[in-house]
Amino acid sequence: MEQTPTKLEMFYEGKAKKLYSTPDPDLVIAYFKDDATAFNAKKRGTIEHKGVINNQMSELFFTLLERSGIPTHFVRRLNDRDMLCKRLQIVPVETVVRNVVAGSMAKRLGREEGENLPFPIVEYYYKSDPLDDPLILPEHALAFGWATQEELDQIKSMALRVNEVLSRFLDERGVLLVDFKLEFGRHHGKILLGDEICPDTCRFWDKATRQKLDKDRFRRDLGGVEEAYQEMLRRVSN
Ligand code: UDP
Repeated sequence: MEQTPTKLEMFYEGKAKKLYSTPDPDLVIAYFKDDATAFNAKKRGTIEHKGVINNQMSELFFTLLERSGIPTHFVRRLNDRDMLCKRLQIVPVETVVRNVVAGSMAKRLGREEGENLPFPIVEYYYKSDPLDDPLILPEHALAFGWATQEELDQIKSMALRVNEVLSRFLDERGVLLVDFKLEFGRHHGKILLGDEICPDTCRFWDKATRQKLDKDRFRRDLGGVEEAYQEMLRRVSN
């Protein structure tokens, strides 16, 4: 039995997770909360058991991605709400991959939600609460020193690879991967996939009915939020 590392100080609290240092400077513990926010924290609430579900679902997806050759920060799940991860220096750019028009893309470009894209589109957003995470060009990340060209190239190819692996896995389980957000960071000079992959950070639609099985149920007050998260966990666990 491997020893459970102890949590030392909490050094970061985000909207969905708290991060703790451990005696090993290379490792951190992520604690998954039930707190839910939307529209840059203008809407707040809790989704019961969300932390437990997102921790388990992220474990499952990170394991699948690692098996497919995509390096991630995931080490192991410690318990219901704690995940042991490699410490990352986060690149302050959120990477979004889209297969189907939805959310901010539908709004920004005046397109109907649900329109299939002819190929996956990768977008970048600057991680900044005061600025509401604005859409950026990769050149902005280069010009302002947020990432190097080599890192951006790696991030793009990893994001597209994640899309291939997850889309296929979910398709087999009757789920359409509409879009999702990824975060990357540096660990001893290497780019790793970080953060979490769950219904907070992805749009999942039932393939047959197009029913939403993700955080849009919370964002848009559609009801059945907890049930949708449970249903997604059930589908990916099979
Ligand atoms: N997303 C996220 N965090 C953010 C913004 C977006 O996880 O701060 C995810 C969101 O769940 C969706 C995808 O990224 O799966 C694209 O989101 P979009 O740009 O459409 O923004 P939204 O309408 O969700 O604010």
